[in-house]
Amino acid sequence: MPEPGTGLPWLIATVSDLRSETATAKTILFNVPDWPGHLAGQHLDIRLTAEDGYVAQRSFSLASPAGNSPTVEITVQYVRDGEVSPFLLEELRVGDQIELRGPIGGYFVWSPASRRPLMLIAGGSGVVPLMSILRTRRIAGNDAEARLLYSSRSVDQILYARELDQMSAAPGGPAIVHTLTRTTPPGWTGEHGRVERDMLARHAIDAREEPDIFVCGPTPFVESVADHLLSLGHAEPRIRTERFGPTGDAA
Ligand SMILES: Cc1cc2nc3c(=O)[nH]c(=O)nc-3n(C[C@H](O)[C@H](O)[C@H](O)COP(=O)(O)OP(=O)(O)OC[C@H]3O[C@@H](n4cnc5c(N)ncnc54)[C@H](O)[C@@H]3O)c2cc1C
Repeated sequence: MPEPGTGLPWLIATVSDLRSETATAKTILFNVPDWPGHLAGQHLDIRLTAEDGYVAQRSFSLASPAGNSPTVEITVQYVRDGEVSPFLLEELRVGDQIELRGPIGGYFVWSPASRRPLMLIAGGSGVVPLMSILRTRRIAGNDAEARLLYSSRSVDQILYARELDQMSAAPGGPAIVHTLTRTTPPGWTGEHGRVERDMLARHAIDAREEPDIFVCGPTPFVESVADHLLSLGHAEPRIRTERFGPTGDAA
């Protein structure tokens, strides 16, 4: 069955700003006058058409908070030898126009009306839709318990580092734990290593509190984290997952 949203029309989007997040990732802001609005956790599709008619299409999570603003925001991580991400990061300029459609996805979605505890677990650029959730939560003034466990290769690969620090320091802000899988800087006080069962036992909200859990990242990361969560007693329906595997060209 096609994912909800994939019958949507292609819209013209104009690049309104580009922000470097790390040496290999940028946030791209688009002005999309016909954007119908979106929920926290949804994504969009981008379609690039070459002069010879060749089409490449990829999915990108929405980083901007839920709402009806015509400005939508994505964050793109460079994939070496990729067709689409190097173009978006190296060629796109403010004022350029591209085609996109959305919002897509009705399952990996969080409502700011929820009062359930919220557990977010990200690997690499999998933090993008979780950032939309956290921004939506902040705007809504939702102060139900929230935690983010965020795995990055190294400290210079952490996306939204400053904003996450500010969020966690604010009253009612989420508790945020970073883990670095490769190098750690001197004095690092976060976790070191991959997100394994014992790390989840230390930092995930206890299964008895029945948190809503959102896990996003590369496919192997998501599958291993979801298995560990089940073994820690979390119920499958409470665990929502989004895999950032290769998207391919299929419409
Ligand atoms: C629902 C969804 C949401 C997504 N959201 C984001 C997002 O917010 N930010 C973001 O940067 N990406 C996101 N992605 C991934 C994105 O769609 C592309 O797959 C990614 O940008 C690579 O595309 P490319 O054309 O540059 O590489 P391709 O030309 O597709 O691939 C080049 C090579 O890299 C491998 N590869 C492809 N994708 C990845 C990957 N993610 N990690 C490692 N190797 C890869 C391929 O197997 C291939 O060997 C999302 C994917 C999905 C399905």
